[in-house]
Amino acid sequence: MVRDPRFDILFEPVRIGPVTAPNRFYQVPHCTGMGYQLPATVAAMRGIKAEGGWGVVNTEYCSIHPSSDDVPHPFSSLWDEGDVRNMAVMAEAVHVHGALAGTELWHGGMRSSNHLSREVALGPSSLPAMESPWQCARMDADDIRQYRRWHRAAALRAREAGMDIVYVYAAHSYLLGQFLDHGINQRSDEYGGDLMARSRLLREVLADTRDAIGDRCGVALRIEVDNEDGGGFAERSALLEALAPMVDLFDVTIADYSQEMGGSRFVREGSLEPRIVHVRQITGKPVVSVGRFTSPETMLGQVKRGVVDMIGAARPSIADPFLPAKIRAGDEDDIRECIGCNICYAHNSRGAAIRCTQNPTMGEEWRRGWHPEKISTAARREQVLVVGAGPAGLEAGLTLARRGHEVKIAEASHSPGGRLQWETKLPGLAEWARVRDWRLHQISKLSNIEIFRSSPLGAEDVLELGIPHVVLATGSRWRKTGRGRSFSAAIPSFDDPRTHSPEEVMAGSAVNGPAVVFDDDHYYVGAALAEHLALRGLEVTYVTSEGKAAEWSIYTAEQPRTQARLLERGVKVIVNTLVSGLTPGAAVLRCVFSGKTREIAAESFIPVTSREGDDALHHALKGKGLSTLALIGDARAPGLIAHAVYAGHKLAREFGEEVQAERRERALA
Ligand code: ADP
Ligand code: SF4
Repeated sequence: MVRDPRFDILFEPVRIGPVTAPNRFYQVPHCTGMGYQLPATVAAMRGIKAEGGWGVVNTEYCSIHPSSDDVPHPFSSLWDEGDVRNMAVMAEAVHVHGALAGTELWHGGMRSSNHLSREVALGPSSLPAMESPWQCARMDADDIRQYRRWHRAAALRAREAGMDIVYVYAAHSYLLGQFLDHGINQRSDEYGGDLMARSRLLREVLADTRDAIGDRCGVALRIEVDNEDGGGFAERSALLEALAPMVDLFDVTIADYSQEMGGSRFVREGSLEPRIVHVRQITGKPVVSVGRFTSPETMLGQVKRGVVDMIGAARPSIADPFLPAKIRAGDEDDIRECIGCNICYAHNSRGAAIRCTQNPTMGEEWRRGWHPEKISTAARREQVLVVGAGPAGLEAGLTLARRGHEVKIAEASHSPGGRLQWETKLPGLAEWARVRDWRLHQISKLSNIEIFRSSPLGAEDVLELGIPHVVLATGSRWRKTGRGRSFSAAIPSFDDPRTHSPEEVMAGSAVNGPAVVFDDDHYYVGAALAEHLALRGLEVTYVTSEGKAAEWSIYTAEQPRTQARLLERGVKVIVNTLVSGLTPGAAVLRCVFSGKTREIAAESFIPVTSREGDDALHHALKGKGLSTLALIGDARAPGLIAHAVYAGHKLAREFGEEVQAERRERALA
């Protein structure tokens, strides 16, 4: 395809102090769950982003000193020469493709628990660490001097590692942000007072950084346009204006992290625009900001309207590291758009390496040598039948076809998509359909793959087709028996006409109020179903065995908005409670701590507890002489959509190949 000349503006170079970015595509610092422990893994991943056309590629938050560690969350570090060597590998991987490399120098201040270093944390006041019942020390003048020296030394190490851009990080409630915060910083010395006074340390650190490395590196400032409580817009604007002469690039955001990092269930693309639109004008400096941008039109609009100079992206660059290259080539319909599920973020939250629902190669660039756009052609072209066109089947079929195989996908229902067919009809989940739609679009471009709809296959049908290689991606169904993490055995009284599975509810089964949803799964399905029923006008009680609604979505940063949404919709939320049985007209609730029971009215009951993989076809085909019989995705082990896509991709990469032992990165004694 040929690029629409309207998009040329996105490929203009941008000057950032002494360095120049080759284009406007800017991968902002984002966590990877790899940090300092997996330098080769992280370098390979960042290098692929540069290869995919990102003009600037940053590290994640990078600790300047052991008094700021974030264990169990993986962070990068520039504490010593060993860190310099490791970070230089990332810089080289980025430079090879003509992009700039940047790092975000970080001190967590009072938020750091310092599980690793056991150093005393430091802050403007002595307040509790974010996730631990202990406090930081209040920084005195010596501590402040020392902190400035550490920051300067880390900036010099960043330059030594080959970084082109070095951040001063005053956002996200870390140390410099804590000094700016009027609630936290109640100091009576020269570092406290009004916002200008509270910014003294930030101004000193900016001056130190410029003095240390400003001749060779661009100095970027990540900062919020509002105060921690969402107010103070005017005084923050005055601050940004005052800081402008010391800054080469403003990376701006807002205090409400649940909007900045908002999942698509709650926040739309480009949502920060009205809040940050003034920064470019008042500072006169290049501005970058994020917005889960996947549409080239939105990007173009923001640049043309003068909102930003550079398109900031974390998630869109994770879902499609080749997003800029695709726009450059005029192939924007091939962009694998982020769905805003925040599974990437969830794994950093859990202390594990990054992964992505849409991009199964993310995080596997070094370990498995997977490339998001390149795949080896198979030595022998085979005929493969894939049964099931959910996320696993679609990904397996597409990737097998890309490798040159002749693929047929049989799908029982009229429409492909599997679980996405009904899940995307839940409130806020429409964007997740991109998992299906991107794959269907890619499949439509290939001549060696075909999808057969309305084609439920039994074992005899499969054997009659005579295709020697069969991949079963037949999915799973929610159990109606109550089995799950709280009850390992079925609950007899759940076998009742009032009990409906999530799939049945979404297929239109007659649900009457009052309805009770029992969430023993703790991710999005239970809460989204409760919201869906409330929107239909039913009286709904949402009962969960955990302490918060959709507790696991803490890791995806969706939990607070999920619970708020339920309350706004009038759903009654009952936590730390099980539904332990049904009686006529009622559900029996049991406190998880005391075991005490009580009853609430229930005309309908929807247990969201666990799923049963549909492996009947697999059993029926075993020992029937097929050359390949594979069971993947939810049918094998019900999981996240990300698990299913990954399983499909892995199967296709490994099909017909001798599987090598994967590489493992670790420190050796
Ligand atoms: P996954 O997440 O593992 O991809 P899904 O449940 O999303 O699983 O999708 C499984 C798909 O397989 C569904 O669309 C379902 O209709 C289809 N399917 C299940 N059994 C058969 C079968 N015997 N023949 C054809 N399609 C099937
Ligand atoms: Fe986007 Fe989800 Fe991938 Fe994160 S995991 S980049 S939110 S699709």
